[in-house]
Amino acid sequence: MKLSRKIFFSLVSIVTVSFIFLFFISSYFLHMRMEDEVKAGMYDELVLIRDLDVDPDELELRRMRLTMISPDGTVLYDSDAEGELENHLMRPEVQEAISHGYGEDKRRSDTLLVDMLYMAISDQEGNVIRLSLPIDSIYYDMLNLMPPFIIVLLLLFAVILILSYCITKWVMKPLDSLDFSGNVDTPPYDELLPLTERLNRQKIEIEKQMTSLQRQKDETSLIIKGISDGIVLFRDDGTILMMNDGVRNIFSLPKDANPNSILELSRSPLFFSILDNKGEGQGKIKVGERTIDVRATPSDGLGAVMFLFDVSEKERIERREREFVENISHEIRTPLTSISGYSELLERGAVTEDNIVKFSHLIHKEALRLKSLSDDILLLSSLDGKSRIDMSEDVDIVAVSESVKEYFAGKGEVSISVKSPLVVKGNSSLLEEALVNLVGNSIKYNRNDNPIEIIISSDRVTVKDQGIGISELDKDRIFERFYRVDKSRSRETGGTGLGLSIVNEIAELHGAKISVESELGVGSSFSIIFK
Ligand code: ADP
Repeated sequence: MKLSRKIFFSLVSIVTVSFIFLFFISSYFLHMRMEDEVKAGMYDELVLIRDLDVDPDELELRRMRLTMISPDGTVLYDSDAEGELENHLMRPEVQEAISHGYGEDKRRSDTLLVDMLYMAISDQEGNVIRLSLPIDSIYYDMLNLMPPFIIVLLLLFAVILILSYCITKWVMKPLDSLDFSGNVDTPPYDELLPLTERLNRQKIEIEKQMTSLQRQKDETSLIIKGISDGIVLFRDDGTILMMNDGVRNIFSLPKDANPNSILELSRSPLFFSILDNKGEGQGKIKVGERTIDVRATPSDGLGAVMFLFDVSEKERIERREREFVENISHEIRTPLTSISGYSELLERGAVTEDNIVKFSHLIHKEALRLKSLSDDILLLSSLDGKSRIDMSEDVDIVAVSESVKEYFAGKGEVSISVKSPLVVKGNSSLLEEALVNLVGNSIKYNRNDNPIEIIISSDRVTVKDQGIGISELDKDRIFERFYRVDKSRSRETGGTGLGLSIVNEIAELHGAKISVESELGVGSSFSIIFK
């Protein structure tokens, strides 16, 4: 119930009850007063009748009844009764009038059968003059006064209502204008002080908690935003409550995209089964070329949370490593088979003198292949980032090229042309290894001992040859590990199929890129371009 209503009804009921009480008290006193007045009027009338000696029939008695009684009780005259009336000597008012000169009584009239007020006085002869009046008539008089009285009461009641309304408004006004948005230090009523103090304390407490909650919320959203993996919070029916930018990246959505349902992200069977299982499920989905690992868990009361991890790179590395291991074992098996075959023949002594030298040469050649294979594998594994490589040297590419030229002295004609000196930050041994591989390839895949050129400019070093060249189709694959355009030629020249991947790794380590320009039957040029 509203306080204002309570105050209003309390005021109205207090005043109404008071008025009802006042009404009855005043009615009582009014009645008493009227009875006294009626009695006084009756007495005056009796005295007038006694002293003026008028004919009773000529008297105007209004509602009163006049009776004259002789000292022995005989009714001499009665204004209302017809015929003989019984002896009135024993009537109390008559008795009193005879003995004291005045008597009165209230009782039920045997003649008229109504409650009556009797008043009697005696005259000099001892006769008793009596006036009687129905008591009701006194009330009738009172009732005549009632309508104006009730009208006044109703008017008063209306005033009470208006006053109560105004008082309620007056009491409530300071309360209505109380502003709890700030601290309430001086409440309009002293009784409210403990309440406002408590409210102020609670307000401070709530503000503290809100600040801490906001901080937690900011921290959480910062963490969620910062995570590159996808996080989606969704209801059981799939409605998305929140998702981070990771999700937009995974599904290549614009920055401001806000899909409503997880089915707008993907309609894969996995997403449908997650919805069927109330937000539970895990598996992998394909988004274009990429593989996404999906894990969804229901969260009490919140719906469910789904994590999306792009595992394409991981899978690519795993696949590469698997293929690498398969290739290594294959590459190792070939020379090992040759070595074990030739050595077995030698062991059995079933070889001619000439073949002993030939077989020993073949075994040596295969062993060298194994060695260069293991060297290349070791180098590749040292380049995969797990071991520490000193990259702080200022490497003079011209000096490195000179050293490479020297390395190949007698194996091929290598010239150096310096358009601009080039010094890069990195590791000189690795850059030399890269150039050795490139120049080595140019020598291996040369035609008619054409000259090989190392060209150094401001941002790159290029190894150019006029060899057999590489087709467009093969150009994209030659950097793959163990890929060789012509396997037997590569084998013949002692190639492992790892040279260009080593060059690629070394270039990447120096923040450089490799570019190839080649034409079949014309020649190739490989450039390491530094940024
Ligand atoms: P390999 O040990 O077989 O030389 P690489 O990784 O160094 O392995 O090279 C991969 C393949 O690329 C070679 O087998 C060869 O077919 C081709 N290739 C590399 N360099 C040249 C070049 N200068 N001219 C023509 N083909 C080349």
